Amino acid sequence: MKNALEQRASLDALTAGRLARGRLQTSAGLTYRPYWWEAAPRRPALDALELPPQADVVIVGSGFTGLSAALTLLRNGRSVVVVERDVPGFGASTRNGGQVGSGNQKFRVKRLIAMRGRKKAEALLREGVAMLDTIEDLIAREKIDCHFSRCGRFRAAIRPEHYEAMARDMDDLREVAGVESFMVPRAEQRSEIGSDVFFGGSVLPQDASLHPGLYHSGLMQRIEEAGGVIVGGAPAEAIVPTASGFVVTTPRGTVSCRNVIIATNGYTGGLVPELKRRIVPVGSGIIATGEIPEALFAGLMPKGRVYGNTNRVFYYFRASPGERRIIWGGRVGRLANNTSPLAFRHLARDMLHVFPELEDVPVTHAWDGLIGYTFDEVPHIGRTAAGLHYAIGYCGTGVSRATYFGHKIALQLMGSKDGRTAFDDFDFPSFPLQPAAKQAVPVVETWYRIRDAVEF
Ligand SMILES: Cc1cc2nc3c(=O)[nH]c(=O)nc-3n(C[C@H](O)[C@H](O)[C@H](O)COP(=O)(O)OP(=O)(O)OC[C@H]3O[C@@H](n4cnc5c(N)ncnc54)[C@H](O)[C@@H]3O)c2cc1C
Repeated sequence: MKNALEQRASLDALTAGRLARGRLQTSAGLTYRPYWWEAAPRRPALDALELPPQADVVIVGSGFTGLSAALTLLRNGRSVVVVERDVPGFGASTRNGGQVGSGNQKFRVKRLIAMRGRKKAEALLREGVAMLDTIEDLIAREKIDCHFSRCGRFRAAIRPEHYEAMARDMDDLREVAGVESFMVPRAEQRSEIGSDVFFGGSVLPQDASLHPGLYHSGLMQRIEEAGGVIVGGAPAEAIVPTASGFVVTTPRGTVSCRNVIIATNGYTGGLVPELKRRIVPVGSGIIATGEIPEALFAGLMPKGRVYGNTNRVFYYFRASPGERRIIWGGRVGRLANNTSPLAFRHLARDMLHVFPELEDVPVTHAWDGLIGYTFDEVPHIGRTAAGLHYAIGYCGTGVSRATYFGHKIALQLMGSKDGRTAFDDFDFPSFPLQPAAKQAVPVVETWYRIRDAVEF
């Protein structure tokens, strides 16, 4: 028997069913903040930390790119200051789904070969695999407790043709880059997922998961232990060249340095106009459910993998590590201000389409963040005409890639030949009309949804 208080609470809770149907008389219990911040609270932006007047390297942006670069520089004896506009880790790095992939599924292998040639395609695909190893090694070496697990990824086919196309692509991936995977036909898919809405899927057993908040906090801790400084509430407002390097100006003071790394990805503003023209920020939203009863949860994701589907405008989900709570992400809502439950309604709808039994499960958290898209849909690493280093544009697959590119740009800055990557020699095209491209995101997304409905 529920007591009166419990009955009232369950009446008030915003369940997945109510959210999906837009019955929003209440949004009780819904917190507009990344769920990951509960276990890894953010330090206030305006903490007592002083901005040192000098450093070897100033890094702009405190996500995985910036922190990974900082750690590599510090471990090689450089002094580092990371300046962050908001709270440290404000950007996508503490807002993502924590799905760790190689980025190799961005293009089908045959398309990649057609675009770049066989040799280059092979190098890019092999480097994608190396990115998974790099993040795993870093987490082990630095002893960061963030639930890293090689859990594998199940990619569910939305249409029968998607299954066939994925099977061919997995064969190509094995042949060209030696990546192991296996297909799970529809008749057997209950071994992977407690749903019948898909037409089978592929499993990439080497893909992984982690807790993004804890990974980020762990990196910050290691950087600060090594003498690095991470200052929040310090937007870089100007970078002026000097005889010996640069001066970076923030409202909290200036720092003179020999080198600068720009690590602002989807949050890239007007600081470096030539980078701004090359990145379009695309929103992505996530909801987290409350703890799901054991009996209901047990069959949903029996292998505890990370999950996605084959659509261009796709959704992705997983359980929060060690909990019976689902983290469900997808496109961002259309509302300008994403502090209304309505902005997340479509995510609950998608979740209930896959798992209708979650109707009465409460939704406790909702948040969004910005992905950095490039025109050619590959990340870019290099140096601007003015001599600023950058690593940017992960197009939504950035947990491993930001970590890897941050490491590589630090090595490049130090002149190490180990900093070379297969991505070095790519031209970095700008968007023809970047502000218009930004406005066009919903239109492009609608176009992709239409194409999702008719082809793979
Ligand atoms: C909702 C969501 C879900 C995602 N899910 C996944 C996933 O499951 N798997 C995956 O691989 N990838 C995922 N991604 C992508 C991934 O999170 C990003 O690619 C990655 O975190 C980028 O890291 P970063 O360090 O380059 O940028 P960010 O983490 O975005 O950091 C950039 C930082 O720069 C700061 N900044 C900007 N301008 C200035 C300035 N002038 N001065 C100082 N600071 C500045 C910003 O405040 C921000 O904190 C997701 C992204 C989002 C938004």
